[in-house]
Amino acid sequence: MAFVSMKEMLKTAKENGYAVGQFNLNTLLWARPVLEAAEELKAPVIVASSERLVDYLGGFRIIASTVKMFIKELGITVPVALHLDHGIEVERCKAAIDAGYSSVMIDGSHYSIEENIRMTKEVVEYAQLHGVSVEAEVGTVGGTEDGLTGGIQYADPEHCERIVEETGIDALAAALGSVHGPYQGEPKLGFAEMKEISELIDIPLVLHGGTGIPREQIRKAIHYGHAKINVNTETAQAWTQTVREIVTADQDIYEVRKILDPAHGAIKQTVKSKIKEFGFK
Ligand code: 13P
Repeated sequence: MAFVSMKEMLKTAKENGYAVGQFNLNTLLWARPVLEAAEELKAPVIVASSERLVDYLGGFRIIASTVKMFIKELGITVPVALHLDHGIEVERCKAAIDAGYSSVMIDGSHYSIEENIRMTKEVVEYAQLHGVSVEAEVGTVGGTEDGLTGGIQYADPEHCERIVEETGIDALAAALGSVHGPYQGEPKLGFAEMKEISELIDIPLVLHGGTGIPREQIRKAIHYGHAKINVNTETAQAWTQTVREIVTADQDIYEVRKILDPAHGAIKQTVKSKIKEFGFK
């Protein structure tokens, strides 16, 4: 089966100068267009559920079994990781692992670096027993995600070095000016800090807030060690725009499939264009 952790896929991506796309699910049916897009391009992919949407989606076990069943039934052959995005507590990460996720993020970025390291280490110890990869965050990604709004706080390079050395994580989200949701004006990523961090640590970096970052900045971020880029808003916008157009054009439409099929087609196109933009060939 094509179901793997992110460890090897991110290592390969970093060595080959591209980033693997992470695409968040906003309904379980989104798994299909995301997987089909990756399969058609023969590209690895990360399917994710944001912590704040887990219960709405039906819980960890329903998400994990649905994604695995889609992989099987669709005959997906490319590497696929199922990742918990922004896990807020150690216990929630453990629950995702128990339910069959192959990767988790523990986001201790709102705590002191000592507490962040302590939480992250506990998740890594548990994850390693199950062959599951772990992502941590230092600094704060700004903007709004699933209703939660926060300000940007740049990652401290020394904290990045410490969390990598002291915990054994597989990937690090070092917040450097990106935001969740639409950007107000041109994104300003901290490339000087990014360069410094990329020289201090070896493991792949993760860029959150992948929607709306100009192509040259994406290329530069990959050059400075980013091997995973998260996208949520852009697929959500593509889905919503398509649904809006269809229901506006035909006020009497009620057959759900006639609305959702094109909306899922829009997700597939968006995922394919992001995979190409992130440098996979
Ligand atoms: P966007 O919603 O800005 O694409 O960011 C997604 C993300 O970073 C998920 O963690």
